Order: sequence, then C-alpha cells, then structure tokens
Amino acid sequence: MLGCNCSIYGDEASREAIVIDPGDDIPEILARLERRGLKASAIVITHAHIDHIGGAARLKAATGAPVYMNLNDAPLYEHLDVQAGWLGIAPPERTEIDQPLKDGDLLRVGACDLHVIHTPGHTQGSCCLYAAGEKLLFAGDTLFLESIGRTDLPGGDPRQILRSIHQKLLILPGDTRVICGHGSETTIEHEKRHNPFL
Ligand SMILES: [Zn+2]
Repeated sequence: MLGCNCSIYGDEASREAIVIDPGDDIPEILARLERRGLKASAIVITHAHIDHIGGAARLKAATGAPVYMNLNDAPLYEHLDVQAGWLGIAPPERTEIDQPLKDGDLLRVGACDLHVIHTPGHTQGSCCLYAAGEKLLFAGDTLFLESIGRTDLPGGDPRQILRSIHQKLLILPGDTRVICGHGSETTIEHEKRHNPFL
C-alpha cells in the first residue's frame, strides 16, 4: 500500500542473498528468490518504519534468515502497533532482531560485501548499504530521486539527515546507482547536481 521498494541482493555463485526491506508481499519475495535459485541468508531492515519492516517476521519464518537492524530504531520498532494505527491497518507480526546493524559492518553475501553506512536523520537508526564492487547503494528512505527522507515523524532530524547525506553518501563515486526506498532509482552524481534539498 505504501509502495516500499524491497531489494534482493544475491550472489550467483554461492546462491546466497540478502533481502532488504521486506515490507509486505512475502509470497512475491519468496517466488523471486526461488525463480533465481537464491536462498535468503539475511534480512536487513534499513529502518523500522512499518512499510520497510512489516513483512520481516513472515519472511524470517519462511526462510530462517536472521533479521538485522540498527538498534537506534528499537523504540520505533517497539511501537509498530502505533505506526499501524496511523495507517488504520492491523499491526503486523513482530520478530526478534537477531543482529544489530552498525556503521562500518560488512555483510558477506558469497564473495560480495555490503558495507553498512549509518545515516541517521529520517530515523535515528536509518542505515544505507553499499556494494563497492557494483557501485550500488541501497539508500532506504535517506536519499530519493531529487528528494530526501521526511524528518517530521518521531526520530526525524532535518539537520542530521543533511549531514548524513553530505558526509557519508555524496562522497561515493558519482556513477553509483542509488536504489531508493520508494520510487525510481538515481545516481550520486544526479543528486549532487539536481537535488533541491542538498
Ligand atoms: Zn521511512
């Protein structure tokens, strides 16, 4: 309903995959994993808004993969029922967070690494994931095509999100593809030139 982009980052050799932000539509995610012959080895939540984390418990139950999230978002996750209330929907099933996601962590997927970049501002626990080999950034709700994440919800901070983007994302190579948590993808270079919020 909220149009969150879920990403599957898989390694064709080992067939391992990380599923990023399974908000909902778990049967579709499982079907895509199966179609590519991939096995989910981790579920990574960029931040604890319901549209990004709502399907984590169901995907974990179906795959056995552990759930990773930055614990600065634990208070938001505690109140998933309040978030559901804002939207007038039933609160989704909850799961334990199995692994804390921390700035500088490396998540292995077969022979590939995803670097964890803590980018607080949209929420206090917001993280991006960067695959240096492919120049691919999974930006969650921190950076969008010609926009940035909203900061008017609990845990949001408008100065902090700008600091995160300038200091931690715009330093990446200009031709880095940015996969956003909502809407179309973009590149670092395009945002440097055309993002009115920056
Ligand atoms: Zn969000």
